[in-house]
Amino acid sequence: MLGNIRIVLVNTSHTGNIGSVARAMKTMGLSQLTLVDPVQAPDSHASALAAGATDVLHGAKIVPTLAEAIADCGLVIGTSARSRTLDWPLLNPRECAAKLLSESPSYPVALVFGRESSGLTNDELQQCSFHVHIPANPEYSSLNLAMAVQTLAYEVRMQFLEADAVPATDDTQYPLAGDLERFYTHLEQTLTQTGFIVKQHPGQVMAKLRRLYTRARPETMELNILRGILTSFDKAVVKAADKKQDDA
Ligand code: SAH
Repeated sequence: MLGNIRIVLVNTSHTGNIGSVARAMKTMGLSQLTLVDPVQAPDSHASALAAGATDVLHGAKIVPTLAEAIADCGLVIGTSARSRTLDWPLLNPRECAAKLLSESPSYPVALVFGRESSGLTNDELQQCSFHVHIPANPEYSSLNLAMAVQTLAYEVRMQFLEADAVPATDDTQYPLAGDLERFYTHLEQTLTQTGFIVKQHPGQVMAKLRRLYTRARPETMELNILRGILTSFDKAVVKAADKKQDDA
């Protein structure tokens, strides 16, 4: 269960924080660390702060984009220091831990952390199925990166130890993040073809549609139906274009 829980750090500035995250993870029994485009690769400072958790630190995968870090995950939860921004499905730390534990037997699940200076971008937050916020002091709600990891990992550990309290894994199959991204790309292409999205003025329509589908959280089979519908639209568009040419 814990082996399928991945901690993802996006564009971290301070290597010391990466080391501290490794330590926070290992104390709570987590080991899977992925670094997305770290400003600096882990160095001796990171190792010093990782203390006895250098195995987690050295095992960290480094990838260039968030999309690559989560492509094989069936559940992606993004963290936010503000309760804010986009109105996205929001979990508290306990609900977050319960979800990670109930779905981790089925596929890798990811918990994504942002930059020390500016958190996650809207684009990155929109790649997540849920957001989690640690309900800190509203006047000073931004925790140090490693402390945020520690807090959320502790909730996971508590619920892992109370294994009986972990909700039974249901059989629902959710698509992996990579499949969802391919669906959004297809949707945007089709809607551009039909003229619904005007390339020069795309506006917020894709962000709004992402939010709609995120809220609904389609199952794998439902996503296949949606892809099938788009393909039928694509064919109809081609057919209509052919007919227009024949008529001309
Ligand atoms: N100034 C940034 C704060 C970044 S703190 C901002 O306003 O977004 C660095 C990271 O620690 C955040 O991206 C998030 O991953 C995590 N973090 C800090 N405080 C948090 C909180 N209260 N709830 C959830 N995550 C938090």
